[in-house]
Amino acid sequence: MFTLPLLPYEKMALEPSMSARTLEFHYGKHHQTYIDNLNKLVIGTGLEQETLENIIIKTANNPDKVGIFNNAAQAYNHDFFWRGLRPATVPMEPAPELLALINKNFTSLDNFYNEFKAAAIGVFGSGWVWLVKDGENLKIMKTANADNPLAYNLKPLWVLDVWEHAYYLDYQNRRADYIEAVLRNLVNWKFVAANL
Ligand code: MN
Repeated sequence: MFTLPLLPYEKMALEPSMSARTLEFHYGKHHQTYIDNLNKLVIGTGLEQETLENIIIKTANNPDKVGIFNNAAQAYNHDFFWRGLRPATVPMEPAPELLALINKNFTSLDNFYNEFKAAAIGVFGSGWVWLVKDGENLKIMKTANADNPLAYNLKPLWVLDVWEHAYYLDYQNRRADYIEAVLRNLVNWKFVAANL
């Protein structure tokens, strides 16, 4: 039985970049629905006791398990997304080791923000943009719908949800403003470093 993980902050902690109202719907309704759907779909499949990570890896690219993959991946992706954000009142910069990796792979932190933003604006329709570790390198990766780097043997470090439900209440169609606000104000760099 999968359950909705607790948020590591209050629903209003991300304001003004992301409102409590957005979290009420995005976390309380959308995320919850993926968990509920997954619980219904795994009954009798032998996957009931598996971790979300294992379900994603075991069901990726299996046409008979698309529903399970989609809901397990969305459950994982949303939990990873929430944990990758920090309260807006907590200032944070990447620690030196992580910053050195960012500088090596993206020239500078500012250039990383620019490249990540361009990728996130470029996701057509619903999807996610990830910072992943590929061997010793950091890469920006776009995935469509529920898709997830674990299905490609890549290690997720951070993710941004660019489904419309992530920003529509606060930004309507202005996806670029949402991306900019989250990148500049809400990245939990300690979470990123812990995933390295
Ligand atoms: Mn979402």
